[in-house]
Amino acid sequence: KVSIFWFRRDLRLEDNRGLYHAYTQEKNVLPLFIFDREILDDLEDKTDARVTFIHQQIQRLSQELAAFGSSILVKYGKPLEVYQELMEKYDILNVYTNRDYEPYGISRDLEVKNLLDTKGIQFLDFKDQVIFEKEEIVNGSGDFYKVFTPYSRVWLDKFQKATIQLVSLNPSNNTFFQTDAISIPSLEDMGFQASSIQIPPLEINQALIQKYDQVRNFPAINGTTRLGIHLRFGTISVRKLALEASKLNATYLNELIWREFYMMILYHNPQVVDKAFKPAYDEIPWRNSEEDFQKWCDGKTGFPIVDAGMRELNATGYMHNRVRMIVASFLTKHLLIDWRWGEAYFAKKLLDFELSSNNGGWQWAAGTGTDAQPYFRVFNPDSQTEKFDKELKYIKKWVPEYGTSAYPKPMVDHKFARERAISTYKEALNS
Ligand code: FAD
Repeated sequence: KVSIFWFRRDLRLEDNRGLYHAYTQEKNVLPLFIFDREILDDLEDKTDARVTFIHQQIQRLSQELAAFGSSILVKYGKPLEVYQELMEKYDILNVYTNRDYEPYGISRDLEVKNLLDTKGIQFLDFKDQVIFEKEEIVNGSGDFYKVFTPYSRVWLDKFQKATIQLVSLNPSNNTFFQTDAISIPSLEDMGFQASSIQIPPLEINQALIQKYDQVRNFPAINGTTRLGIHLRFGTISVRKLALEASKLNATYLNELIWREFYMMILYHNPQVVDKAFKPAYDEIPWRNSEEDFQKWCDGKTGFPIVDAGMRELNATGYMHNRVRMIVASFLTKHLLIDWRWGEAYFAKKLLDFELSSNNGGWQWAAGTGTDAQPYFRVFNPDSQTEKFDKELKYIKKWVPEYGTSAYPKPMVDHKFARERAISTYKEALNS
């Protein structure tokens, strides 16, 4: 008999809660990873850097498991079909995994659980990717918070009172299924190719975190940790990072709270995936010009800070947070293009793409989300540049032709666009 531990977005052995439970409670733990066709089939870019990254991490896990005399079973297919096959092949006792909070993950897990139920196999899931989940942070009447500040206060208070201990696997009590290395399908087997995009290294840079509040807003300097992709795929433990952050810098810890806030919002409001958090804002008549959208995607708007951001994203799969806010505001307010278009473009390109944070960030920029910011606040790209890239270092890095005749003229007049955005929002909200 074997028990399965199903890795998903938790690709590490260290402080992996579900894995720890399986390892300490079972006798024969078979690690499993599924390259999920429900997700992969929708990826247009067959050199997607995230797929390459996952593939590398699975190979690393396989090596780490070899030290336990074990390996990882890697399947390519749809989870339900994979489980059907596994149930025929193995005598499965229990399946362990870490909880997911996105609509797709929730429905996938429910289907798998129901299938396992038919054979009396238990599906045991654990909290791992967040410090606090679901209803752990609620207000006095038991409702989820709709606004960040009170949520973060309660989160922090609870965090400070909690004793958070990291867990690790004791090698002298090895309960992994013993096997030679099991071969892993290649990227090519799955219709993909390796990407050449560089993945930021997995390191907790304490010196950086210590001064994070002073440097985080300037895109020309390496003032943020670039841990997004590691949090996304769980190559780092959020508990480990939060414990460090709490010693080093309150502003940094606050960003981790934003991450959980948006996860909680999505969990309680799955409709935000394609609807405005504030329903009235679904009435905005977006202009949705395909031509304008293409200029934005290509970094050819004639607004250098916007273009620099989009070109950084296209080239590296990353964009600095300050610039994400600027380009998102520009798309939704200056060009009056539906935030969902921008959100989908980011989802394709960002290495650190996280449905909840991306959706939250876009709805924030479009003014449709949880934030109380009035819609008539429209970012001015020039004054943002003046504040955050005064010496134009970031702009010159990504838009080398800036200042020459090769650089396009602004595609729209700022003052005109600002007024058009405000009047369009106002009319839609008052109708
Ligand atoms: P750091 O500044 O070093 O922060 C550390 C970690 O804290 C991040 O990796 C992230 O997990 C979390 N974090 C930081 N800021 C935020 C925030 N505002 N909201 C939620 N979590 C935060 N973040 C994503 O992880 N995935 C996304 O798909 C995403 N899309 C965004 C879209 C828009 C329009 C905007 C405005 C923001 C988006 N963010 C997203 C939030 C933020 O821009 C990124 O988390 C951050 O830039 C990642 O860089 P970093 O790892 O160096 O972050």
